[in-house]
Amino acid sequence: MKLILLGAPGAGKGTVAKQLTAIDGSVQISTGDILRGAVQAGTDLGKEAEAYMKRGDLVPDSLIMGIMEKRLQEPDCQKGFLLDGFPRTIPQAEALRDLLGKLSIKLDLAVNIDVPKDVILDRLCTRRTCSNSACQAIYNVKSNPPTQEGICDKCGSPVIQRDDETEEAISHRLATYNEKTAPLVGFYEKEGLLRTITGTSSDIVVNAIKDELGI
Ligand code: ADP
Ligand code: ZN
Repeated sequence: MKLILLGAPGAGKGTVAKQLTAIDGSVQISTGDILRGAVQAGTDLGKEAEAYMKRGDLVPDSLIMGIMEKRLQEPDCQKGFLLDGFPRTIPQAEALRDLLGKLSIKLDLAVNIDVPKDVILDRLCTRRTCSNSACQAIYNVKSNPPTQEGICDKCGSPVIQRDDETEEAISHRLATYNEKTAPLVGFYEKEGLLRTITGTSSDIVVNAIKDELGI
C-alpha cells in the first residue's frame, strides 16, 4: 500500500503506520524519526534541523524534500510505503506530487486521522519516547508505560520526554499544524485521494483503512 497519513501531532500516525507495516511489509517513513536520528548522529542535516525542531517549528521544505527524494527511491519502498509526518506543507505536497509523477508511483490514499483536540493535548503531554534513535518506541505514562519505569521494553535504553514535548513547544506545534498542515486536507480532497477517519483507537483506524483498500 502507498499511503499518506495526515493528522495533528499525537493523532496516532506512527502507531497506525507500525500496525500497517505488519500487514503487507510496506515501510513506514517518518520524517520526524529520520530527523531525530540525524540530530542524534550529529550529521549536517541534524545540525541544520535541530533548532527548528526544538522550537516546534517546521524544518525548511528544501531539507525535507532532499531527504524524501532519496528515501522514496530506495528499493524497500517498492512494496509500498506509509508516509508519517510528510508532507506537512502545501509546497511539500506539490513537490511530492511531482516526484511521484516522475517516478511513476501512484498513491492509494491520503488518510486524515481525526482525533478530538483534548485527546491530542493529553496524549502529547503524557507521551514518552525511547532515546535510542534506532528504536524510538513510543510509550505513554498513563495508558502504556514501559514495564520498568523509564526503561524501554524493546531495547533497554532510557525512555524520555522529547525536547519538543514541553507545554510551550506542544502548543507551538499544534498552531503550526493548524496553519501549515491542516490545509493539506483540502489539497488531497481535490486530488480525490482523501479519506477522513475519526477514531481514537488505532485498531479502528487500521480496520477502516483495510476496508477502504479492500484487504
Ligand atoms: P509529531 O507528529 O508528533 O509532531 P514528528 O516526529 O512528525 O512529530 O516531527 C517532529 C518535528 O520534526 C516537527 O515538529 C518538525 O520540526 C520536524 N518535521 C518532521 N517532519 C517534517 C516535515 N515533513 N516538514 C517539516 N518539518 C518536519
Ligand atoms: Zn528502545
